[in-house]
Amino acid sequence: MSVTLVKNVGLMLSGEVARPLLPADSILIEDGVIKAIGQGLEAPEGAQVIDAQGCAVTPGLIDSHCHVVLGDWTPRQQMQNYLESSLHGGVTTSISAGEVHLPGRPKDPVGAKCLAILAAKSWANLRPGGMKVLGGALILEKGLTEEDIAECYQHGVRVVGEVGLGSVKDPEEAAQMVAWAKARGMTVMMHTGGTSIPGSSVVGPQEVIQVQPSVASHINGGPTAVDLEGAKAIIDQTQAAIEIVQCGNPRRAVEVTRYINQKEQWGRVIMGNDAPSGTGVVTLGILRNLALVASLGEVPPELAVCMATGNTATLYGLRRGRIQEGLEADLVFMDAPMGSPGQDLLAALKEGDTPGISLVMVDGRVVVSKSRNTPPPKRKAQVVTP
Ligand SMILES: [Zn+2]
Repeated sequence: MSVTLVKNVGLMLSGEVARPLLPADSILIEDGVIKAIGQGLEAPEGAQVIDAQGCAVTPGLIDSHCHVVLGDWTPRQQMQNYLESSLHGGVTTSISAGEVHLPGRPKDPVGAKCLAILAAKSWANLRPGGMKVLGGALILEKGLTEEDIAECYQHGVRVVGEVGLGSVKDPEEAAQMVAWAKARGMTVMMHTGGTSIPGSSVVGPQEVIQVQPSVASHINGGPTAVDLEGAKAIIDQTQAAIEIVQCGNPRRAVEVTRYINQKEQWGRVIMGNDAPSGTGVVTLGILRNLALVASLGEVPPELAVCMATGNTATLYGLRRGRIQEGLEADLVFMDAPMGSPGQDLLAALKEGDTPGISLVMVDGRVVVSKSRNTPPPKRKAQVVTP
């Protein structure tokens, strides 16, 4: 059995809106799973010990909107190892929003189905640098039947990629397919706002309300946002999770999060990059989202962290994203960056600064021992016994 003790945690962020800060400074991990959380826990004999040296620990960040294809390569930006690079930005799980960038992507029902199944099975076997990828997001193309969707589910497809990116554009046609997918417990994303690339479509608030997806993807635009009234209509007239992305419109991100503050619906917001995309690959995108909503968006920073962790995990039924006994030990050790006027993680986020990461853990195993992408943190976690 492998045992790890994490000690001297300055701030323990649970990822849960109901109780975002835990009164604890140590975590005991056994075989990759959180066994105990407490104050001054002792290391069992032979345990690996990680000294957080007063920094903050959060659940591993979840990017709710990533356009993976197959392997750690993006044809959209001709980049290799972009997922492994995002791991250095604290992202331990990425969720596919549809493998739309596959060169020569088939648009017939059989091709769409096969691509989703292939991607789901391939990503189940592949962890770039240690990152977990929920891949295989079915793109809705004309002609898909209820049997096709059932077959996808049977072979491991759990997500319908952004509605609007495939040939199904008519809300009535989409609503029928979405109902079939939701009936099987699949999570359905819907592109919201202006066209991202030639060939996709403008999706207005009325269409989102008519289709009732599980996620109103990039409510702040991917990259062009619906107007504020439209965003409020989606928030008020659907049950959908509300997604804020890095590669969108920052003004709308701020306006939407302020509206969420008024309604106290922090548990409904999730965070993605919407990368790789025309905007590029932003390896610190999720950290930048946290800083944006906690500073200009005025979301309490400990709740902002939930938007990139526990909220998304709960929506997708993942056994991670929260610091809770029995869940997978995917953790990020971060702090205010050196030079920030903020003295700890929460104060730095309020300032709008991008945090510094000293260590990233997946299933209790250290996968990054010093981020090559973030600024250096004020306090750095260290492995004291190997
Ligand atoms: Zn989109």
